Amino acid sequence: MPICTGSNLARNSEIHTFSGHQFTTVFGRNLVAELPNFVHRPCLMVTMEDLWPKFERHFNLEHTEVHLVQSLELAELDRIADDLPAINSVIGLGGGRAIDVAKFVSWRRRLPLFQVPTSMSVNAPFGHRAGIRDRGVVRYMGWTVPEAVYVDFDVIQSAPSLLNRSGICEILCYHTAHYDWKLAHQRGKAEPQWPYDPCLVTEARQMMDLVLTRLDDIRQVTEEGIRTLMLANRWGGSTFHNAGWNPRHIEGFDHFLFYALEQVTGRGFIHGQPVCLGIYIGSELQENEPERILSIIQQVGVDIRPEAMGITWADVVEAMRILPQYIEQAGLWYTIASDKPITDEFAERVRQRIYDAYE
Ligand SMILES: [Zn+2]
Repeated sequence: MPICTGSNLARNSEIHTFSGHQFTTVFGRNLVAELPNFVHRPCLMVTMEDLWPKFERHFNLEHTEVHLVQSLELAELDRIADDLPAINSVIGLGGGRAIDVAKFVSWRRRLPLFQVPTSMSVNAPFGHRAGIRDRGVVRYMGWTVPEAVYVDFDVIQSAPSLLNRSGICEILCYHTAHYDWKLAHQRGKAEPQWPYDPCLVTEARQMMDLVLTRLDDIRQVTEEGIRTLMLANRWGGSTFHNAGWNPRHIEGFDHFLFYALEQVTGRGFIHGQPVCLGIYIGSELQENEPERILSIIQQVGVDIRPEAMGITWADVVEAMRILPQYIEQAGLWYTIASDKPITDEFAERVRQRIYDAYE
């Protein structure tokens, strides 16, 4: 284990043992207040209705257009990008949704982008493409490299704990993804463009192992926890591109169940809750250390009971049931979901284990 020196440089060099360019990431304080001093004017602020009042005082509205995100639908985002007044830069300020819409607009209008994640909920600030929805189906599109990603300790620490803790899902999902990739390889179902690559798996596994040594810091959202999870998410955000647009070592059943849940319920989620649920259910289906995975999710403080995300167990069962078909229709890849049908007995066992664990 590398020793904490407290300096960004030492930490970055630790991460740079892995391959490929990653977005410039700056840790510090008072970072939002500095933005108006250097972003190209006028700028577009892409943020959320509940966040903007917290930050509005730092910005002069003469130089700032504000877009409060309502939708991730492609048709709507295209309209917004087309109708924008003349602006010279884009700021994304928020969790995943604001960050993704900022990426999209920056791409469509070819504008410099400055990203300020307000929580650790997703790895979106560190990836090139925007995760949007095309008639409800997830699509990753566009290309942006931000000028910098600003991680402000005070801003992150003021976000709801669940949002921050649930960001562990972006790393823990490597566990199920690796099994899925190997399974596809063994079944002769690996996609021709993504043959199984043990080096990529090892690289991701090392990143996950590092994060697992800091679970208490992540749960408590300490500076150490923020640095560890954000730098891991930085690696995770860039590796899709750096591996040749290969998502196999970082995503599988875990995220697919979330996409299916979105379709079944038509609801928005805190990303990490349904994804952690997907990681746990995937690991059960894979018979791949499910007890360990459930205990990690609990230790970090993410509640994956359906009620904790405003849905029912019947929704989860329905998402599991439609998953193979959803994967086929969405053109996603071969995972345990396509290999092993869900039985009533399996669903009931998983339900019991989840409720027992959180009682
Ligand atoms: Zn994710």
